[in-house]
Amino acid sequence: MADCIFCKIAQKEIPSQLVYEDEQVVAFRDLEPQAPVHVLVIPKKHVASVLALTAEDSGLVSHIFVDVIPQLARELGIAEKGFRVVANTGEEGGQSVGHLHFHLLGGRSMQWPPG
Ligand code: 5GP
Ligand code: ZN
Repeated sequence: MADCIFCKIAQKEIPSQLVYEDEQVVAFRDLEPQAPVHVLVIPKKHVASVLALTAEDSGLVSHIFVDVIPQLARELGIAEKGFRVVANTGEEGGQSVGHLHFHLLGGRSMQWPPG
């Protein structure tokens, strides 16, 4: 997607603080961190949101949740005390970037319900 900021980050056309990369996924520090650890985990391919996922993406989603997020949580030191994974979706969900991303937040106590 030509005008997608996260596609550009995935393709290194825009700099970011990368913390993880493989063939399918990149993870980088959020520009405006909401917690001591705040990383965005995204597929390299453009997917607009959770709603745009298809059965063909099941391996990708599994990879993100089974492999990438647990590994990152351990490496970033938030696995033991706990963390939060968030996928804001659509307008009322608070999604501001139209490329699927999972917020990985940790390093402080989280409140529930979120605002
Ligand atoms: P959303 O609001 O869509 O759930 O999350 C988008 C996130 O992307 C926000 O937390 C915002 O701070 C972050 N963000 C937006 N633009 C950039 C950018 O250019 N670089 C980085 N690293 N984060 C960004
Ligand atoms: Zn994109």
